[in-house]
Amino acid sequence: KTFAEAGFSVELMKAIAKQAYEKPTSIQCQSLPIVLSGRDIIGIAKTGSGKTAAFILPMIVHIMDQPELAKEEGPIGVVCAPTRELAHQIYLEAKKFAKVHGIRVSAVYGGMSKLEQFKELKLGCEIVIATPGRLIDMLKMKALTMLRATYLVLDEADRMFDLGFEPQIKSIVGQIRPDSQKLLFSATMPRKIEKLAREILNDPVRVTV
Ligand code: AMP
Repeated sequence: KTFAEAGFSVELMKAIAKQAYEKPTSIQCQSLPIVLSGRDIIGIAKTGSGKTAAFILPMIVHIMDQPELAKEEGPIGVVCAPTRELAHQIYLEAKKFAKVHGIRVSAVYGGMSKLEQFKELKLGCEIVIATPGRLIDMLKMKALTMLRATYLVLDEADRMFDLGFEPQIKSIVGQIRPDSQKLLFSATMPRKIEKLAREILNDPVRVTV
């Protein structure tokens, strides 16, 4: 398998080459065709598997495919992660690929000034990477809307539940368009996560690494 098979743009292929990603990892091989076809996915994968690129690269394609981008505001792609450290890592990975198409990425997590994040979100972005609590705060402050969001990633869903973010995740899912493409990644699949997946995903494909 190669990245070329995914049909990425020349710009994205260059950015992938710049990262020295020679070939897709196992989770990328399995999930890229599924996610690029528009389907929902349950990815059972740990950090280190290359799962971030597995959801970020199709997110960039999804955003580039949106007609009349300027009509609405707010992010198109939304990623929820359990901790600020993970959110920041995802942000850095997303920026490398987003910048080649002029796609704006914002990160929203605890420990940073709410006012600064509010101001940044008000400038606009196509991708937001967030911890669930802070994203809810920003939605309440009307720093952003979910009107345009059509691609949602829940990363390390098991850890988000362990940290007590279940209500926030359900609130975020409830604010996003029901026809959105949704991706759920988790290292483990306890009953609660299986139940969440059944509730929020539409006919998902399951991949395991
Ligand atoms: P992740 O599991 O997403 O946290 O990724 C783990 C590490 O693997 C990160 O440093 C990525 O930059 C790197 N990585 C992701 N995809 C590939 C790939 N196809 N080839 C080599 N390294 C990769």
